[in-house]
Amino acid sequence: MADGALPGAEALAEVLADVRRYLGWHRDVAGEELHASSDGTLGAIAAAMAVEVTVEGSSTPPVVVEYGEVSAEMTSGPAPVDPVPPTASRARVEVAGRSAGVHRPSAPAQAPLNPPAPEAVLARGTGEPPLLDEVRRALGDCKRCKLCSGRKNVVFGVGNPKARLVFVGEGPGAEEDNQGIPFVGAAGQLLTKMIAAMGYSRDEVYICNVVKCRPPGNRNPEPDEIEACQPFLEAQLNAIRPSVIITLGKFAAQTLLRTDTPITRLRGQWREYVGIPLMPTFHPAYLLRSPAEKKSAWTDLQAVMARFPKPGP
Ligand code: URA
Repeated sequence: MADGALPGAEALAEVLADVRRYLGWHRDVAGEELHASSDGTLGAIAAAMAVEVTVEGSSTPPVVVEYGEVSAEMTSGPAPVDPVPPTASRARVEVAGRSAGVHRPSAPAQAPLNPPAPEAVLARGTGEPPLLDEVRRALGDCKRCKLCSGRKNVVFGVGNPKARLVFVGEGPGAEEDNQGIPFVGAAGQLLTKMIAAMGYSRDEVYICNVVKCRPPGNRNPEPDEIEACQPFLEAQLNAIRPSVIITLGKFAAQTLLRTDTPITRLRGQWREYVGIPLMPTFHPAYLLRSPAEKKSAWTDLQAVMARFPKPGP
């Protein structure tokens, strides 16, 4: 602490930096919601926007910041993150010989037109990780499941092939299908804000989905579709070998962790995917429907930031 500084000032500054990051993400979304609401829900939303901040191990009482009190300065973007070197070693992920996961097809609606995923290519023979481009080429104009018949584009993934941080969602929606890029619709805009609140740009992280083709009408992906795509998701992770994975929603967490545990129990708990730390959190589309849960999601993202601080420039 600097000479003459008040006790607890550093802790308070850290808390305010956190609040600033959180509100930078939270406020914009609330703005959209407030525009959309012409009735009396405004007060309820404003109340849901209140953020209570406590300093762990401090006698300082919780600080409650209301939406209406946010200044322009507090929302002007992510605060700089201290330059701390990464502590996690990069885990190697093996793909060859891996069986395809907990989800078993019920009865495929049609015979797959492509052969199964070329795992030998994905693992480059000897367990050496594939390159992301090789995984994309192996996926090709995929017809391994019935989703191929309704899609416009295969939505493979976007971002830094050497990302430390990978986000895995569920599957493309209409806008993603149109553009061939994951998370560009309404949920994507919220995800982009969540990423910014963590101090990253979309270009610095990698974003992909469990299934690479849009389920019709945005229905949930079915077990046979997840199973057909899973080797490619795993090969993507094998190629990138990130320091940490954040799964968004039930399907990404359950697929990578091979569990049926509900997302409400998985979220916020550190897990591992083949040696890589994995943090399950809520899907941004769910957060748009249930804004009160953003606080929990932010707690999850903060846990990731605390364990894997962004390295300095
Ligand atoms: N929801 C997802 O899970 N993924 C996307 O790419 C878009 C919305």
